[in-house]
Amino acid sequence: MATALRCGWLADVEAGEMLPDRTVLVDGERIVAVQPGSAPVPEGVEAIDLGEVTLSPGLIDLHTHLIGVAACGDSAQELKQSAARQALDGVDHARDTVLAGFTTVRDVGTFRAFIDTELRDAINRGTAIGPRMAVAGAYVTVSSGGGMITGLAHDIELPKDFRFGSVRAVDDTRERVREILHGGADLIKLIATGAVMAAGTVPGAPELTEAQMRAAVEEAAQYGAYVAAHAHGAAGIKMAVRAGVRSIEHGCYLDDEGIALMLEHGTYLSADIWWSDWLTEHATDAGFDAEQQAKNDDATESQRLAFERAVRAGVRIGFGTDAGAFPHGIQARQLQTMRTYGMTPLEALRAATLTSAECMGWEERVGSITPGKYADLIAVPGRADDPTVFTDVRFVMKGGAVLKNDLPDHAPERALRGWAGQ
Ligand SMILES: [Zn+2]
Repeated sequence: MATALRCGWLADVEAGEMLPDRTVLVDGERIVAVQPGSAPVPEGVEAIDLGEVTLSPGLIDLHTHLIGVAACGDSAQELKQSAARQALDGVDHARDTVLAGFTTVRDVGTFRAFIDTELRDAINRGTAIGPRMAVAGAYVTVSSGGGMITGLAHDIELPKDFRFGSVRAVDDTRERVREILHGGADLIKLIATGAVMAAGTVPGAPELTEAQMRAAVEEAAQYGAYVAAHAHGAAGIKMAVRAGVRSIEHGCYLDDEGIALMLEHGTYLSADIWWSDWLTEHATDAGFDAEQQAKNDDATESQRLAFERAVRAGVRIGFGTDAGAFPHGIQARQLQTMRTYGMTPLEALRAATLTSAECMGWEERVGSITPGKYADLIAVPGRADDPTVFTDVRFVMKGGAVLKNDLPDHAPERALRGWAGQ
């Protein structure tokens, strides 16, 4: 069914401007045209006036964890839940995410392997409502490293699906990458350095070797897949970039040499620079201990300044938030933090749409309001010059189907009924 959506403003993230009064024509699951609001709507097309809103491409988060206990400092809690419980909670997390305007996510890891592939497939089948997902399957990590549940007694052995991606050397890294891709993952997530939230690990310390990471990149490439690397420490970041990873996640202690290397290699930065604000407020009730808080305080201050230097230097900036470390569906707050640390509102929106789509290799499908791409469209009230409005998404369309419409004045019942069952 063809639909015309009229809006007061349209966020053109390719040109970096707000276009006044536009109509977007949608046919089936794709965008077919963008025209001036005054242009006639073709015969037989249902016209919906969204009113004085900004229509934006659906947002993309490059760094979510839809599977796992959300907003909880104690990773051992993962062991108290069944796989079934985690999958069902994932359905909730996916719904919260897409209804907040995130129509695509790159989900970068679950402690229990492969529940993410099931959630992705359930959404694609229509069993669950959620964003388009690219998933990592499991963490590739050293034993007792940032991708493991740590802090357990030494005589406790984790079940196999909690250490699926644990590797020791180059050969088994290749083997594990193959197994993860054979298991249905879309990308590989490496834990290059220690982690802020994993007890005992040191964020600044390299964990995987450069040779292991290069092997992972090479092996993934054989399958047309790429690698995202969790990396905090300056040395680990440079090793990962030299090894050829597509994106650096977190990048807390990124230095100028690292920035130069990222520019040289075209590496994307996916830095979760907002959620520390949430942690500061909720650390105690969410069960984050003193070690985690101290590591986080140190890492965040450094991360935000590094982010600002990377923006200024022209590094490709994506939008990754670490949603799951905090409750799902509130991550649009990071757009404002990106503005504070050197981006204009439209640059931050471009990071959270087109640049993130490019990082995923999905720029032909999503990331801008362009004919031929999926009709993944969201609306926020007024002219979106202020990124905070993206925390108040009123309308969500994914693949031509309306998942949310809180604009009753401008969206008559009759129009909504037309989409029922899609
Ligand atoms: Zn993460």
